[in-house]
Amino acid sequence: MTAAELRKANMEEKIKRTIAALDRHNIDAYYAETLEDVSKLAMSFVEPGSSISCGGSETLKECGILEKLRSGEYNFLDRRAEGLSREQSEELERSAFFADVYFTSSNAITENGELYNVDGNANRVAAICYGPKKVIVIAGANKLVRDLDEAALRVKSIAAPCNTQRLNMDTPCQKLGECAGIGRRMTDGCIGAQRICCQYLVTGYQRKRGRIHVILTAETLGY
Ligand code: SF4
Repeated sequence: MTAAELRKANMEEKIKRTIAALDRHNIDAYYAETLEDVSKLAMSFVEPGSSISCGGSETLKECGILEKLRSGEYNFLDRRAEGLSREQSEELERSAFFADVYFTSSNAITENGELYNVDGNANRVAAICYGPKKVIVIAGANKLVRDLDEAALRVKSIAAPCNTQRLNMDTPCQKLGECAGIGRRMTDGCIGAQRICCQYLVTGYQRKRGRIHVILTAETLGY
């Protein structure tokens, strides 16, 4: 086996453990080998005409899901559509509560079978918790972590700094490449209007089986 094949085999074992742990927590989880498989599997959960919303996610862009949602085949509640006022965009965010399907990634997924997400606005963590009938979570192997400590570290050192750099937010992590509160408590960080880490959600169990579906791939997706 080549080094690349060994790395992939190692990652697939990690994914297998994570899928089994998610399953114990009533969360349906699947492995998709390629990005095309990810997209096919994700869209198989959606009926034509369904109302769909999604969280802001580079992962959804990278695996082509956003493009599919905008194809006109679905009632996509697109809060990022061109020409929307702030009020219209917020109204669409609220309507996600009643959507048939919500697409998102996760900031981290632990090998213990937990989803870990941190939001500024909280529309995404709210939808993961309650509201949309179905939640489809797509995550690359780069989102897998051993436990919640690693998940919190991942957000402070990778996910949040990359997001503040992309959005050009005036926060310490945008300049330093890591959280001002790194190495301290989970909720320690900066203080200010542009802070994007406000609500911290651990999904430890899904009461309603079939509501949350997690698709994992050995590819790298998002950050
Ligand atoms: S708390 Fe502030 S500094 Fe820390 S990661 Fe979040 S936005 Fe960046």
